[in-house]
Amino acid sequence: MSEALVLAKAEEQLLELGLKRAAAVLPACVEWAAGHQATYAEFLHRLLEAEQEERYSRYMHARLRMANFPYHKTLADFDFSFQPSIDERQIRELASLTFIQEGSNVIFLGPPGVGKTHLAVALGMEAIRQRMSVYFVTMQRLVADLRRAYQEGRLDKRLRIYTQPKLLTCDEVGYLPLDALDAANFFRLVSERYEHGSLIITSNTSFTNWGTLFGDQVLASALLDRLLHHATTVNIRGNSYRMKDKLRAGVTHALKEEATA
Ligand code: ADP
Ligand code: MG
Repeated sequence: MSEALVLAKAEEQLLELGLKRAAAVLPACVEWAAGHQATYAEFLHRLLEAEQEERYSRYMHARLRMANFPYHKTLADFDFSFQPSIDERQIRELASLTFIQEGSNVIFLGPPGVGKTHLAVALGMEAIRQRMSVYFVTMQRLVADLRRAYQEGRLDKRLRIYTQPKLLTCDEVGYLPLDALDAANFFRLVSERYEHGSLIITSNTSFTNWGTLFGDQVLASALLDRLLHHATTVNIRGNSYRMKDKLRAGVTHALKEEATA
C-alpha cells in the first residue's frame, strides 16, 4: 500500500472509532513526527492529546451551558485588592472544592455589586472543570419554578433538578420576601440537599432578618440550622465594583473642577 493510501485508511479508521479530531490532525501529526524524528509513542501521544483536548473543550462548553450561569468569570478575573474585606486565602481554599467533597455549604453575604455572584460563578466553574455537576439559579426563578410545579402536582419530580447536582448555587436570596408556599418549597429543597450536596447561597440580607424574609421565624431558624451546620460564611463589606468606574470618573471630575477653579 502506498503511504497516501495508508494515511487515508487510518483516517477512515479513526473516524469509524469516533475519533474525529484525531482523524483531522492525523496528516499534520504524521508530518510533525517525520520532521522531528519523533518516536512512535510520541506520535501516538500527540495524536491522542489533540483528541482529548477537543473532547474536554466540548465537555466544558456543554456543561457550562447546562449550568445556567448568568456570566462566565473565574477567580483569575477577580480583583482581590478592590475588596479587602475578603480573605483571599479563604476563597482559594474554597476553590480547592473540599467543601463539595464534604457536602458543606458556602454563603456569600453582602450589599449589591461586591462580587457575590462572581465568586459563586467562579467556584461553580472550577467544579465543572473538576467534572462535578453544577446548577445555578436565582432565588426568584427557583421559587417561581417550584411554585408552578407544586400547582401542577409535579413538585417531587421538579425538585430533582435542584437536588441532583453536586453543587447548586442559589443566587440573590433576600431580594424578594417569600410567601408561605415559596418558603416551604425552599425549606424542602434545603432539607433534601442537607448533607447530600453542597449549596452556595448569595444574599444581601443578614441571617437575623431571615425570619422576616421567610415570613416565619420557626421555619427560618430550622432552615438556617441545616444551612449553617456545615458551612462557610463569607461576609463581604465594601463598595460596589459596578460603581468603580463611576466613582473614579466622579473623583477625576471633581479634581478637574478643583484644578480649574
Ligand atoms: P453581586 O455581589 O451583586 O452579586 P457581582 O458579583 O455580580 O455582584 O459583581 C458585579 C460585577 O462586578 C460583575 O461583573 C463582577 O464580575 C464584577 N466584580 C465584582 N467584584 C469584582 C472584583 N473584586 N474584581 C473584578 N470584578 C468584580
Ligand atoms: Mg449578584
